[in-house]
Amino acid sequence: MEFWSARRMQFCDTDCKSALRRRICLVILSLVLWAGFSRASEPALQRFQFTHPAMGTLFSITCYAENTNQAYAATTLAFKRIDVLEDIMSDYQADSELMLLCEKPPGQPVPVSADLFVVLQRAQKVSEISGGAFDVTVGPYVRLWRFARKKKVLPMETELRAAAPAVGFRKLRLDKQARTVTLLVPNMRLDLGGIAKGFAADEALEVLKGRGVNRALVAASGDIAIGEPPPGKKGWTVGISSIDAHDNETTTNVMLANAGISTSGDTEQFIEIGGRRYSHIIDPTTGLGLTNRIQATVIARDATTTDAMATTVCVLGPKRGIAAIEKTPHAAALILTKDDVRHETLISPRFRQFLPKTTETPIQPEP
Ligand code: AMP
Ligand code: MG
Repeated sequence: MEFWSARRMQFCDTDCKSALRRRICLVILSLVLWAGFSRASEPALQRFQFTHPAMGTLFSITCYAENTNQAYAATTLAFKRIDVLEDIMSDYQADSELMLLCEKPPGQPVPVSADLFVVLQRAQKVSEISGGAFDVTVGPYVRLWRFARKKKVLPMETELRAAAPAVGFRKLRLDKQARTVTLLVPNMRLDLGGIAKGFAADEALEVLKGRGVNRALVAASGDIAIGEPPPGKKGWTVGISSIDAHDNETTTNVMLANAGISTSGDTEQFIEIGGRRYSHIIDPTTGLGLTNRIQATVIARDATTTDAMATTVCVLGPKRGIAAIEKTPHAAALILTKDDVRHETLISPRFRQFLPKTTETPIQPEP
């Protein structure tokens, strides 16, 4: 059975990052001959899996191809595309296009690459839908959060207040005609950590398709772009992990083809200060990491949407999160919450179609 676990991605610290940056080319994890039946119209396909470190995580491609040459050539190009996107969107590289943009004086329209423009457009759309819960201008708060994680001390009230004027998605202006970006106020810092991996996974999948490798899945830890199903199958089975970091169990399996799926939450990335747990996902209204335990899995037509929306649902919480999902075309969500007393599971109305037909469904959407 094709099985993938939608686990959370890891953002690495600088040390880890520089190790990854060596880009040790492709590591072939496994190569398994597919011994199933083949369709008359399709040559026998073999299953391949390759991994590649980028964007602070490990990208993995599983695909079916006619032979090793085809699989290797296609995945090499797909990983190259991911590297190009990392060079544009990284906030760890001082010379990434994104960071150079943030250096420009406020109020100046800056011409940007088509890739950066598209991802910012997609992000701004999600900001509109979510009333600013998703906001790529949270960079100044993310910086404070990273510092807090190192020092194990919360940002000071004065620091948060000083950062606030530089945050707010309406302070980021996009001009489609001129393909320029204007940062309207000083000290703005954009952070694409909530959307870039999904975008890169989608783009890698497009590269594979362009090389005739349509039966493929590109996973960047918690963000997965899925193409045509494996031969003879209706889809790829993806397991949704539990909200508890210590167990590797999956709570639900879904079967997907031509879709994106992302899981966000604080299962793997959080800081504990003063007995409170703060997520790496920031509530733009407070500048602080979320303190409520929540994990959101979103399914939609592509992984750019699911990456951004999974982060969004965590910020909005179950009720408002499901409302935002309903406003997003073809999107569906499964939300797990946890407090001292109980675990809860909620699904949006469209999620039901992805649940295995044989399972009785004990989980209900919010009324
Ligand atoms: P994800 O792991 O996809 O949920 O994204 C989390 C990452 O997105 C964080 O590590 C930050 O880089 C960034 N981020 C944090 N809070 C927000 C937010 N409210 N809106 C957009 N991006 C955020
Ligand atoms: Mg995300």
